[in-house]
Amino acid sequence: MNILLEDIQIFLLNLSFVFLLYFLYHKFIERNTQRISNEIFVGLISGLSIILCMTFTLSPVSSFIFDMRQLPLIIGALYGGRRVLIFLFITLLSYRYFIGMDEGYYASVIIYSILTIILCYLIPRFTKAIKIKHKVKLAAIAASFGIVLILILIFLISPNASPIKLVSTVVLYGTQFFLILFFVTLIERARMERMIFEELKKLEKLKIVSEIAASISHEVRNPLTVTRGFIQLLRESNIPDDKKEMYIRLSLEELDRAEEIITDYLTFAKPSLENVQMLELHDELQYVLKVVSPYATMNSVNIHFKSAPNLFIAGEKQKFHQCLINLAKNAIEAMPQGGDLTVNIEQEEDKAIIRIQDSGVGMTEEQLSRLGTPYYTTKEKGTGLGTMVVFSIIKVMQGEISVNSKVGEGTCFTLVFPIVSNE
Ligand code: ADP
Ligand code: MG
Repeated sequence: MNILLEDIQIFLLNLSFVFLLYFLYHKFIERNTQRISNEIFVGLISGLSIILCMTFTLSPVSSFIFDMRQLPLIIGALYGGRRVLIFLFITLLSYRYFIGMDEGYYASVIIYSILTIILCYLIPRFTKAIKIKHKVKLAAIAASFGIVLILILIFLISPNASPIKLVSTVVLYGTQFFLILFFVTLIERARMERMIFEELKKLEKLKIVSEIAASISHEVRNPLTVTRGFIQLLRESNIPDDKKEMYIRLSLEELDRAEEIITDYLTFAKPSLENVQMLELHDELQYVLKVVSPYATMNSVNIHFKSAPNLFIAGEKQKFHQCLINLAKNAIEAMPQGGDLTVNIEQEEDKAIIRIQDSGVGMTEEQLSRLGTPYYTTKEKGTGLGTMVVFSIIKVMQGEISVNSKVGEGTCFTLVFPIVSNE
């Protein structure tokens, strides 16, 4: 009876080792996409489980010891591949050799050599199998061979084994068989769920791009229709000059708007940098501020520029301009009653920092969190594409952007870029 209790304890201990193995595998390894480190990890964890299982074994029948070492061996081999299998095979036999070079050792050499050959044959099939059912079937084949080999061994030594011993051994290996199937199912399920999740993320991205494309055609059609209408009106001969002037101005505005939308969309869909060059921050910002200054004056916004010379970053000129213009435009639009737009350039170690601060309406937490998502706009004529483009340009320029904002006080956009030396 004592022996039985002891066996149950050992059985549970072995069970906890293999669960630990599964847990570690599931938690850490699967996330690691690099093949080599995955192999090393699977090999180490499975090897450790094998040694733990073999250290705590059912009380031996003569020199034969029974435990769950087959589980980490089979699972490790199926998920780690042939190299891991060879490593586990050597680990197992070396450890068994260390325990004692008795009959049991020779039995292990025979059993695990056969099992290793069988696994070598099964591994590529297991890797290729797509359906979970198929994988479980292959794992079942491996596990059955393991059991059959052990049963043959038990049969050969049964004359001097007690019935209780036989029962606990059979229970141990029976449980092991089902655990192997259970683990493969669990691991595969988890994999599938992760794959579905990745797929969903990709679909979500595609959806955004196609939604934007759809809205672009819609958004561009509007200004075109309006412009067309004005041009038609202009054809009539007896319109006063001031009206004519207004039609032309409105048409041009609408065309500009269409162009802006198209550029923004193209930059978002294809934000990669093509003509990367050294950009001197002072010059570039001065240029951008010159471009937006009429717009600022129109909105009674004063521009303050505090610069630092000779700071170079890498990027594409046009896109960098577009990014800064979008930010400056937003800042100006945030100050409908006028205010101050302050632009600072600073150096902090090997980083260049650009701060674009306005004294405008500011944003709430909720607005801040939606900033940069397509179509998010609070403006009547807004596109909700500007900040999205800003974010994507800064990302490809290896920069970082952060926003600080307080409702009623203003907003500060901070851009950080790595400095490149001007050699
Ligand atoms: P749009 O300017 O066409 O509305 P953006 O993507 O450029 O689209 O901006 C999205 C929204 O973010 C704006 O509608 C505005 O509500 C908010 N926003 C952006 N910049 C600022 C700012 N400096 N101050 C306050 N709100 C801002
Ligand atoms: Mg904008």
